[in-house]
Amino acid sequence: MPPIPGSGLAKGLAVTLRTMTRKSVTAQYPDVQPDLPPRTRGVIGLFEENCTVCMLCARECPDWCIYIDSHKETIPAAAPGGRERSRNVLDRFAIDFSLCMYCGICIEVCPFDALFWSPEFEYAETDIRELTHERDKLREWMWTVPAPPALDPAAEEPKEIAAARKTVEKQAAARAQESTPPGPAGPGTPRSAGPTPAPGAAPAPEARPRPDRDESGPERPTGPGPDRGPGPDRPTGSGSAGPAGPPPGEGDPA
Ligand code: SF4
Ligand code: SF4
Repeated sequence: MPPIPGSGLAKGLAVTLRTMTRKSVTAQYPDVQPDLPPRTRGVIGLFEENCTVCMLCARECPDWCIYIDSHKETIPAAAPGGRERSRNVLDRFAIDFSLCMYCGICIEVCPFDALFWSPEFEYAETDIRELTHERDKLREWMWTVPAPPALDPAAEEPKEIAAARKTVEKQAAARAQESTPPGPAGPGTPRSAGPTPAPGAAPAPEARPRPDRDESGPERPTGPGPDRGPGPDRPTGSGSAGPAGPPPGEGDPA
């Protein structure tokens, strides 16, 4: 069937009308920056103080696009007679972003938290060879890494923070102990049983006789009384750890 004359024009006008009423999605980049999610995989930042040159990231990278050079340095013994130690010093850390496929494996495997995703994405170059970025550039990107998301309120305190907090508390306690002035008690001074009463103050309640108590009355038995019986011997040593004595009323079999 031959096409109806003018049907193509009508279809074209229908498409034009439909798209005219839709919301525009065109971003006026670079005048308007895109609103990216905070965890965007833009580029990889290096926190080189944390890097121990273990080479794990370079070994695990599926594209082999991480280049690391290092040398060994000997650290003298901390104490006389101690052993010298050696450590790796980072000389070069570079990532070739023309090969990188943004898989994130290097970040996942780094055991020392030295690599992070940065949302920075404006590092296009006109020459592909300039897409190999060295450690200085990777370190600059480190400062664009967003702070980690807050922990769940019911989450356990991270081990690193708990250890740091305990150390700070111990140091504060030691400082407080050092700064406490020595008390008046010297060698040979009897220990005070409580605060010293002010001159003219009433005696402490323990020192005053109780009005409702006959001091000459029968004393409370201090030893085995006639009605108490010898009873079980109370442990006199340190012994709460020993076995329990015989039950009350049985007496000491010896
Ligand atoms: S993101 Fe993947 S491809 Fe890129 S450097 Fe890391 S491991 Fe290699
Ligand atoms: S895995 Fe981490 S610590 Fe090891 S070399 Fe790579 S960045 Fe450095």
